[in-house]
Amino acid sequence: MGVGRVDPAMTDTLEKIPPRPLLLNEAVGMENAFEYALRPDTEEVLVLLVVGEDRAHALGYEAEREGWVTIEHVPIADPEKSVPEIERAIEAWTEEAYGEELASGDVEMVSNDDRERHRYRDHVETGLAAAYDCPECDAYGTSETVPAHVYLAHLQEEHGYTPEEAQAEIER
Ligand SMILES: [Zn+2]
Repeated sequence: MGVGRVDPAMTDTLEKIPPRPLLLNEAVGMENAFEYALRPDTEEVLVLLVVGEDRAHALGYEAEREGWVTIEHVPIADPEKSVPEIERAIEAWTEEAYGEELASGDVEMVSNDDRERHRYRDHVETGLAAAYDCPECDAYGTSETVPAHVYLAHLQEEHGYTPEEAQAEIER
């Protein structure tokens, strides 16, 4: 597969990625890998960010080549600089490779909230975790990663809930 220019520590991880779109569950199950674009209907992941020891690698699945290509890789020492940089590269590449499908909704970019939703959906479905799915905006968290008081504060500060209304929402 065409993932050249990788640091040695990444080789193992990259070699484990099969030459086809990953299924969302596979991506979620990989350590240090994060889905950035997928087909919502089939949950095929088309863009993946893999974080290695000192670099983060954005990989895109090219349907024509039936393989993954390196979109961009950046050092992770300075995330405030490198995260926006690699996210811009991911957006540009996805637009280029899947522009029509993005426009039609057949391919979607994945937000931070979506990633949280994907990571914990089994726990939410089985009742192991509570979902903090804001009724007023796209914010999403779960009780495994977000303290309840943070969600209560979000409802009050962002949406003007009273403490009682916020408490009622969290116990819904
Ligand atoms: Zn909200």
